Amino acid sequence: MLKAVLFDMDGVLFDSMPGHAYAWAKVMTEYGLPMREVDAFENEGRTGIGTISIFTRRYLGRDATEEEAQELYRRKTIVFNEYMAARGGEAPEIPGAAEVLNNVRAHGLMRVLVTGSAQQSLLARLEAHYPGHFVPELMVTGDDVRYGKPNPEPYLMALKKAGISANEAIVVENAPLGVRAAVAAGIFTIAVNTGPLDPQLLLDEGASLLFPSMQALSEHLGEILN
Ligand code: CA
Repeated sequence: MLKAVLFDMDGVLFDSMPGHAYAWAKVMTEYGLPMREVDAFENEGRTGIGTISIFTRRYLGRDATEEEAQELYRRKTIVFNEYMAARGGEAPEIPGAAEVLNNVRAHGLMRVLVTGSAQQSLLARLEAHYPGHFVPELMVTGDDVRYGKPNPEPYLMALKKAGISANEAIVVENAPLGVRAAVAAGIFTIAVNTGPLDPQLLLDEGASLLFPSMQALSEHLGEILN
């Protein structure tokens, strides 16, 4: 008996990933750790230090230090904010996301947010774009978790907050590591490939269904929920 749909945020509700990918690639490459924008999509969901360490291991043969991670992440945030400021200040909605949310609500199901983002303004932004869908008690953010995706922790925490078990939920995710986290939590996972990645990467992580866009998901959601 389905009770809730658990939504990832970046790349599912907001088209923020191009800005993150631009900022990651620019700052890391300037720092002497060559990184492509597509690498950012492949690592989407990791913590900042987790992402940076992938590249320090590759090019320097060691993990990133806490100081390096803080400095690089601080610069990445500045570049990301500049990128967004040049494009109207905030990431646009992902086309089709509002239809998906409305359909989920019409079926009487809870909407739960599960994001690695820890922005202060997160709830206000959700409310401005998707009014009435999310409440703080049913949100897991970067501030709540210790490990983050691809660890199942954030999805397990979301189930606990909603008071439901894994077989009473489904997940909507766009990133391979997000799919891995949700599948590891034992939840039926729908992948939506809103970025430039090979869709096979999402299937390889165990996604049960795959759609090329949130619009495509919204067109099939009725059948899935019934
Ligand atoms: Ca995402």
